[in-house]
Amino acid sequence: MTITSHDLDYLRRCVDLAREALAAGDQPFGSLLAGADGAVLFEDRNRVAGGDPTRHPEFEISRWAAAHLNPEERASATVYTSGEHCAMCSASHGWVGLGRIVYAASGRQLADWLHAWGAPASPVATLAIGEVVPGAVTDGPAPELTAEMESLYRACFAPAR
Ligand code: ZN
Repeated sequence: MTITSHDLDYLRRCVDLAREALAAGDQPFGSLLAGADGAVLFEDRNRVAGGDPTRHPEFEISRWAAAHLNPEERASATVYTSGEHCAMCSASHGWVGLGRIVYAASGRQLADWLHAWGAPASPVATLAIGEVVPGAVTDGPAPELTAEMESLYRACFAPAR
């Protein structure tokens, strides 16, 4: 599939959530879950500042979906996220059986930016969603949002000069 203008609207909401996370002292990642009818079922942002590094919004979506949706509803739902899932979140997505994923920036882009800025690499290997969940349907990155994502990441991760 390709990223439609409708998809971009959801992605922009995710970027807003990422910006909100950064403003709150968390890392700039935001995600939402849309049902088959397009309704936003759940949304969250990164919340690692409290000391739990697993508080990623994509992981919260998997947990919420497991608690609230039946398997058919999960499979027909779409996850939108500002940054491509990490391996942990991809695994949770696969275990819970959620549907398509659309992301604004890829994990590869983030890893490359961190490297370019001289920032520490992630402690978890950068794996594309499809490497963790072979059957996953994914779309991204969205070039329309690349500059904005780079600037949010830079504000959070680039070492001060
Ligand atoms: Zn994650």
